[in-house]
Amino acid sequence: MSFDAAAYDAFYRSSVDDPQSFWATQAQRIDWHKPYRKTLDYDKPPFAKWFVDGETNLCYNAVDRHLATRADQPALVAISTETDTEATYTYAQLHTEVNRSAAMMQALGVKQGDRVLIYMPMVAEAAFAMLACARIGAVHSVVFGGFASTSLATRIDDATPLLIISADAGSRGCHVTAYKCMLDEAIALAEHKPAHVLMLDRGLAAMKTVAGRDVDYATLRKQHMDAAVPVTWLESNAPSYILYTSGTTGKPKGVLRDVGGYAVALATSMDLIFCGKAGETFFCTSDIGWVVGHSYIIYGPLLAGMTTILYEGLPIRPDASIWWSIVEKYKVTRMSSAPTAIRVLKKQPLELLQKHDLSSLKALYLAGEPLDQTTSDWIANVLGVPVIDNYWQTETGWPIISVAKGVGDKPTRSGSPGLPMYGYKAKIINEDTGEECTANEKGVVVIEGPLPPGCLQTLYGDDQRFVSTYWRNFKRVAYSTFDWGIRDADGYYFILGRTDDVINVAGHRLGTREIEESISSHGNVSEVAVVGVENPVKGQCAVAFVILKNAAAAANPDDAKKLEAEIMKVVDQRLGPIARPSHVYFVSALPKTRSGKLVRRAIQAICEGRDPGELSVIEDPAALQQIRTAIEANEKNTCP
Ligand code: AMP
Repeated sequence: MSFDAAAYDAFYRSSVDDPQSFWATQAQRIDWHKPYRKTLDYDKPPFAKWFVDGETNLCYNAVDRHLATRADQPALVAISTETDTEATYTYAQLHTEVNRSAAMMQALGVKQGDRVLIYMPMVAEAAFAMLACARIGAVHSVVFGGFASTSLATRIDDATPLLIISADAGSRGCHVTAYKCMLDEAIALAEHKPAHVLMLDRGLAAMKTVAGRDVDYATLRKQHMDAAVPVTWLESNAPSYILYTSGTTGKPKGVLRDVGGYAVALATSMDLIFCGKAGETFFCTSDIGWVVGHSYIIYGPLLAGMTTILYEGLPIRPDASIWWSIVEKYKVTRMSSAPTAIRVLKKQPLELLQKHDLSSLKALYLAGEPLDQTTSDWIANVLGVPVIDNYWQTETGWPIISVAKGVGDKPTRSGSPGLPMYGYKAKIINEDTGEECTANEKGVVVIEGPLPPGCLQTLYGDDQRFVSTYWRNFKRVAYSTFDWGIRDADGYYFILGRTDDVINVAGHRLGTREIEESISSHGNVSEVAVVGVENPVKGQCAVAFVILKNAAAAANPDDAKKLEAEIMKVVDQRLGPIARPSHVYFVSALPKTRSGKLVRRAIQAICEGRDPGELSVIEDPAALQQIRTAIEANEKNTCP
């Protein structure tokens, strides 16, 4: 393949002009048990079915398929700087562990199509469980270990899992978070009750066992040491997993993904975007609770026959050289992380990076939030490798916009994640007219259907919500990313932030409504508004403005501090520390429209020292002044 800059343009055109033949070619990257009959069925837009009637299996393609050629090659390296452990599993060993895990699930009654909720820290057993589900056709739903009981309960009720797999605790920066009590609380809150809870005891926290429901992981594993569980061949459009993501309502959206399309999309992206080669090592620093972890810690690298690193711990503990020591030790060739992490590392002494031999590393990929120029330049300079921004979402499963260095040598452009990736008919449109914007004109980033393989098929159990949320926002029917953007004259995209009330904290998406709902559960809260405020390290952080039922409770600074701490604790307990606002301000009015809708955009502008814009929509402009005064009085509108 020639690597000139123009090569990509032709490649891209072929992917959108004739998606059927384009994706038929890419589908050869994976093994099919039964060939598909039709590459794409788009008879019922916006529902796209890829590789109709083909039968395959994600676990087979990620694990079994490699046994003939790379059984002794490391497949998974699980490193924890929290428990000071490091374990390597070859493809043969991974295969054995996945078979054991699959047999354990079957022993607990899990069958094809059943949901298995995985609420686990970054341990190898979590990877085994995901792959085991894929093997037997069970649908996994991984819930980020940082989420607390209320978040977990909503997900349990939506996914109605037969089985939940969890561990006694997770640990972050040596701070142990006991999972079991949060899980028990979540199950108590949820209407749906799982038949079984499989508990991995890491020896980090005490656990109370519920008789008849809870099962000890180690004991059950011992009964299945020689397990050989046959692969369940699945129709390409069978569900593989549900992954919840924040939206504008308090109810999370269960992104549902297929089997065949996802396998093909990931295998293709591993080659063309991430340039990962079998036998090399991929290090994605995300968490299995996020889409990046699903796609580029577990499935993508394994589909590509690479060694993948699963890392539990902070990037700065025991010191900020930890990630670089992993790169050196395991000869990582491709690393994927988030801008926030790089901004954290940038504050650390440079020697910690420079003392390592990083010559194996060929590129660094950053995603999840806007990549600022300073961070990008700094890391590109110190590593001496290309830094590739990639823009995507939980919904798409793989990058929408980036530069595909595996196709052509398109240069990166400062401040831009790049160009639409093959398969995505991305456009910037005017939200009122539905017309395509001209170069450098701001609009909404949309994708015209059919979405390429790997993207969400629907929202779990709610086709109606899938259509009404993503496809009905403009005069022209297209999938909305809910991001503002512009496209320059050369076709490079620039992402300008969300169009909805979703904020991005350290690369993680949080709905302001979810945080507001949890704050409202505090007995003294009458009304609340939460906005995302710019932050130099985390990108954004949540800030809350609260109207109290009894304002006297925050009449003096000490009382206000106490109440602020109480409210933060409520958020920690219900949603998890990830959603905790950096500040809680007490006010007596909030800016609203005449119809009573909160004008969060104006609050956010004031928090960021910007002009709040058109005030005529606001019923009571004095409310804005109160917000201004509260911030000035506290002088603390930054994250700790
Ligand atoms: P999530 O679904 O949690 O991965 O969040 C997706 C959202 O994160 C996108 O809709 C964007 O708002 C933001 N995002 C992800 N990657 C990038 C990027 N490379 N540049 C700018 N924003 C990004």
